[in-house]
Order: sequence, then structure tokens, then C-alpha cells
Amino acid sequence: MISGAGIAGLTLAICLKEYGDDPVVVEQSPALPDDGYMMDFFGSGWDVAERMGLTGALRALRYPIDKLQFVNAEGKSYATVPIKRIKRALDGKYVYLRRPDLVRILYERAEALGVEVRFGTEIADIRDQGTHVDVAFDDGSTDEFALVFGADGVHSGVRRLMFGDESQFARFLGAYVAAFHIEDHDLPVGQVAQIHEEPNRVAFYYPLGDRKLDATFVFRLDEVDVPPEQQLSFVRRAFKGAGWIGEALIDAYKGSAPLYFDTMTQIAIPRWSRGRVTLLGDACGCLSLLAGQGSHMAMAGAYILAQELQRYDGNHAAAFASYEAMMKPAIAERQEDASAFAKIFIPTAQSKPWLRRLVIQTAFNPLVLPFAFRAFGSRSILEDDEV
Ligand SMILES: Cc1cc2nc3c(=O)[nH]c(=O)nc-3n(C[C@H](O)[C@H](O)[C@H](O)COP(=O)(O)OP(=O)(O)OC[C@H]3O[C@@H](n4cnc5c(N)ncnc54)[C@H](O)[C@@H]3O)c2cc1C
Repeated sequence: MISGAGIAGLTLAICLKEYGDDPVVVEQSPALPDDGYMMDFFGSGWDVAERMGLTGALRALRYPIDKLQFVNAEGKSYATVPIKRIKRALDGKYVYLRRPDLVRILYERAEALGVEVRFGTEIADIRDQGTHVDVAFDDGSTDEFALVFGADGVHSGVRRLMFGDESQFARFLGAYVAAFHIEDHDLPVGQVAQIHEEPNRVAFYYPLGDRKLDATFVFRLDEVDVPPEQQLSFVRRAFKGAGWIGEALIDAYKGSAPLYFDTMTQIAIPRWSRGRVTLLGDACGCLSLLAGQGSHMAMAGAYILAQELQRYDGNHAAAFASYEAMMKPAIAERQEDASAFAKIFIPTAQSKPWLRRLVIQTAFNPLVLPFAFRAFGSRSILEDDEV
């Protein structure tokens, strides 16, 4: 039983099915969720996708973005990075995609293999009986499974049921993240992904063609309770007076696509498994968007977990222990890097714009870029794996 038809859950379902198991996936959303944001996909994620035979589908994704630009309050560029340069730095193993694209590609593979996905369903209770696990669902039904996997994201329900309240494991990184999709805009962004930063806030704009656009907003703020109906006005307040198209874009968002809104949080949990239940992906190792590789690690974790279950042939305790030993140090290292980066990612009122621009221009220089990627996550954790 896999809870969550996201990146980790579907990757695990596919791998288990290919090994001859018969996983069932439950997903709380009534259909594949379309709340999306743009992501960079490379490194460990690319390696897993390659082994799963999915890189053709990834390369077939087409968005009109040909450059990434850092722009000032008037939209004038002070650093331009051709996407070709990023691809070259990563040996061509790179795509820009929306989270729903990756989920759809994985779902189509899972569906073709005959994986059962029950939408609109959540696990309500888990009882590990030693020889099997009794699972109760929110529709009142019950069933019996050999193993249960919590791949249900940063706010995992399986984690809450097995390990307790999220507050014990959450590390707030001092900022909020919001993202939405716009179907019909007339803002002057051309075919260029743009980043505009100001003290305490950064906005990312991704034109998707046909007047469609994805936007992500990151802003520094203390942690407070924000009821869902106030999330948009919270973002609007945080970007009040923002330069370039920030305010206009938030005004243009009419809520036809869902608003993604969350704290920027990591999850660090001492043990990933208990008995016949284990966690994967953001549920046990959320890195935050700052690492830029949460989806890569979610796929790598799922792939390694399936592989270890196969290797230990029925000994789930040994498989879970081996999976955790392989993944946890890599997750901890990336979390440390991301939380250090959190301190500088969003400028403060004291930041020196000329210095930030110099660092950005240097990091994206064609000679430096391959080393910057290597230092910051392009090295796949499967590189040393002999399987
Ligand atoms: C703005 C932003 C930008 C990012 N950029 C990048 C990037 O550039 N590169 C990158 O690699 N990563 C990026 N990430 C991180 C990446 O999106 C996550 O690490 C990744 O989605 C984690 O995959 P997952 O399968 O563990 O969780 P998710 O993708 O969150 O999937 C969890 C699934 O479980 C479902 N679910 C939740 N609760 C329950 C429940 N109780 N019962 C059943 N189902 C449930 C959810 O609906 C969802 O389908 C970014 C994240 C954000 C927020």
C-alpha cells in the first residue's frame, strides 16, 4: 500500500510492479493534482528516469523558454543564462518541467503496467500486526497489506499516524512559498524565464507559450497560521509595491488554477521506518525548493527502496534499514546545504545588490557553471551504484 500518487509514490509503484509485486496506491486528490510550479530536472532524478526508460517522454516536453534572466524592477536584465548553457553544463541531461508533467509521465507508465491507483482516498488508520498491516481508509473500508509506504509529501498522513505530529520533524526555513498558473496573460515576458529579487522577496516567472505562465513567489516572514481563504491576500500583501510584474501578476490571478501555498520547511525524522511501514520522498526528507532537487531525491529514494526490497527478498526490515542507510546521509547533506543557502537566497535590506549580481554572473559563467552544478546537486547519487 503506497499512500500518495506523487513523484515518490508513483516511482515506487512502477519499480515494485516491474519487480513482480502488486502495489496499490491511494491518492487524496480526486484526480491527478494540477497545482504546479516549474522545476529543474537533472542529477539523480535524470538517472532514475533513464533507468526507467522515461527520458524520451521528458525530452518531448516543450516549453518556449530559451533563456533565464535576472531582471531589475523595470524588467531590465542584468544576467542572462541561455538554457542551452545549462543543458551543456549537465551533458544534455536536463529539462525544465512543471511538477504535474512529471507526475503525469509517471502515472501513464504506472497505468500502462496496471498499477491500481485509488483517487480521492486517504489512509485513516494503520495497525501493524507483525505478519501484515491492517489499513482503514477514510471511506470506512479496510484491507490487509504486507507493507505500507508513506509517499504522501511534506505533510504526510502516514508519518503522522506512525510517528506523531509534524511539528517534531519540521524545520521552518524562515520563508513562505506560493505558486500559481495563469492561462491568459498579456505581460511582457517573451520567451524568457525571469527572476526578480528585492529585499525579503523573490519572484520567478515562467512563460509557457499561448499566453500561459507559471509564477512562484518566495518571501521571508515569521511563521504564522494562514487560513486557506487568506493565502492569496497574504501573498498580495507580501508583494505590495514589488517591482517589475509582481503586483500586476498577482492581480491577474483569478484562481482558475489552484494556488500552491506553504511554508518553506524541511523534514528531518530520526527513523524512517517502523515495523512494516516506511516513509519516502518529502515525507521523510523534504529538502525545500532551495535544494532544487527534491524530486530527484524522491525518485532516487523510491528506486533504491524497491531495489533493496528485491535484494533482501521478503526481509523488509533488512531492506528498509539498507535503504535508509543509503539515502539518509545524502538527504542530510542536501538539507544542510539548502538551509545554509536559505540565509542568502532571499536578499535582506542589508544585502549589497552589486555583490549579489557579481556572484550570480560568476556562478552562471559558462566556465564556472559545470562546477557550480557539480557542487550543488548535479552529481547523481546512483553514480556509484553498480545495479
Ligand atoms: C515551488 C517549488 C519548487 C520546487 N522546485 C524543484 C526543482 O526545481 N527541482 C526539484 O527536483 N524539486 C523541486 N521542488 C521539490 C519537489 O517538488 C518535491 O521534493 C517533490 O515533489 C517531492 O515528491 P513527493 O512524491 O515526496 O511528494 P509530492 O510531490 O508532494 O507528492 C505527494 C502526493 O501525496 C498526496 N497526498 C498528500 N497527503 C496525502 C494523504 N494523506 N493521503 C493520500 N495522498 C496524499 C499528494 O496529493 C501528492 O499527490 C520544488 C518544490 C516547490 C514547492
